[in-house]
Amino acid sequence: MPQESDHGQAIAPQGSRIDAYVDRYAARATGMVASEVRALFAVASRPEVVSLAGGMPYVTALPLDVVGELVADLVARRGPVALQYGSGQGDPHLREQICEVMRLEGIEANSNDVVVTVGSQQALDLITRVFIDPGDVILAEGPSYVGALGTFSAYQARVIHIAMDDEGMIPESLAQTIYALKTAGTRIKFLYTIPNFHNPAGVTLNTTRRQQILEICQRADVLIVEDNPYGLLGFEGTTMRALRADCPDGVVYLGSFSKTLAPGFRVGWALAPHAIRDKLVLAMESAVLSHSTFTQLAVGQYLTTQPWRQQIKTFRELYCERRDAMLGALEAMMPAGCSWTRPAGGFFVWATLPEGLDAKVLLPRAVAERVAFVPGAGFYADGGGARNMRLSYCYPEPERIREGVRRLAGVIEQEMQTRETFGPDAPIERGGVDTPGPDLA
Ligand code: PMP
Repeated sequence: MPQESDHGQAIAPQGSRIDAYVDRYAARATGMVASEVRALFAVASRPEVVSLAGGMPYVTALPLDVVGELVADLVARRGPVALQYGSGQGDPHLREQICEVMRLEGIEANSNDVVVTVGSQQALDLITRVFIDPGDVILAEGPSYVGALGTFSAYQARVIHIAMDDEGMIPESLAQTIYALKTAGTRIKFLYTIPNFHNPAGVTLNTTRRQQILEICQRADVLIVEDNPYGLLGFEGTTMRALRADCPDGVVYLGSFSKTLAPGFRVGWALAPHAIRDKLVLAMESAVLSHSTFTQLAVGQYLTTQPWRQQIKTFRELYCERRDAMLGALEAMMPAGCSWTRPAGGFFVWATLPEGLDAKVLLPRAVAERVAFVPGAGFYADGGGARNMRLSYCYPEPERIREGVRRLAGVIEQEMQTRETFGPDAPIERGGVDTPGPDLA
């Protein structure tokens, strides 16, 4: 039992989670909530549990000895620079190299318009900070990346989802939503989109729709934030043209080395029209003064000295084999009535359960059967996604993926049988599972 202080406030007994500062936080802190799912995932990270939940890149596939030598060499040769503060915009040479990487997606950019950030997650934070006042509207695909939704919520944005199908965001749905909002006098601050190998939906925006979406946004004067961490991980070896390539003034492009090299360096970037770029640099400086010079130079050194395109190919082949293992296992084992997307790249499959089933309810049972996934509800800002689950294939070996799907199929099958026996009123124990934590992003 919590005790009371002299001021009538709850005092947390040692080890308790009662928050004595609860009445002092800024209003925006109410949007920053820890997930109940974390406790469950602490169990899920046990070795006997097959985790189809995490979005962790398989960094073991990197030549770690080479990376180690490169880092040691960097300190030996350029230590006084690498260990010093740097510019708020990021290392100029790395920014040139980033432009070279973006050229693979048809982007012709000036390195002066690039801001290096602490992963693309920080770029998302800075963009939101620069554009959003409480209550402002952001459009985002439904479902959308949980880390972006967390940031938007922290800045008290109102997220309105745009419907998707297997070909990505549906332009008609975007046009209708923009029309309805404009008619109601509501200003849209930006459209947040993940066009390639979507997290969590696993789908890719087709070429025709890219042009339509650009036209719709240009006509309605809606800024696009294009988040593209998976764009170079296409399994057919093709790379889609970035939205930014055809609309330099209307798109802020976010990129990252987290999936093509390693997330531990925490190097991502934003490419933005000049005026926005200036604001981002100021916001960056107020947040962290400057990004780590050390990791920026390490990434720069890696790009200069290592066959990075070949390494991306290695990652693509590895993830492709795992995607095949997951799709094959789903096809062979999932009960009738379940459906799922077929990603052509990236890390994730988005599965839909039969009518009446709730992924949050299934999760504790799945964990008891030693398999974990992320329930779909965390990927919606509006309560959608109850019948969905995100299944990731990036981290476990193919054999483990098959075993995980076998266990999951068994749990779903059992749940369907229970519902059949007891009907739709079968008692449901709610799992109490909300937004996944960053380790699941
Ligand atoms: N955007 C999307 C769509 C992601 O999936 C992730 C990471 N899972 C990020 C941004 C953030 O990645 P990072 O900060 O490591 O670049």
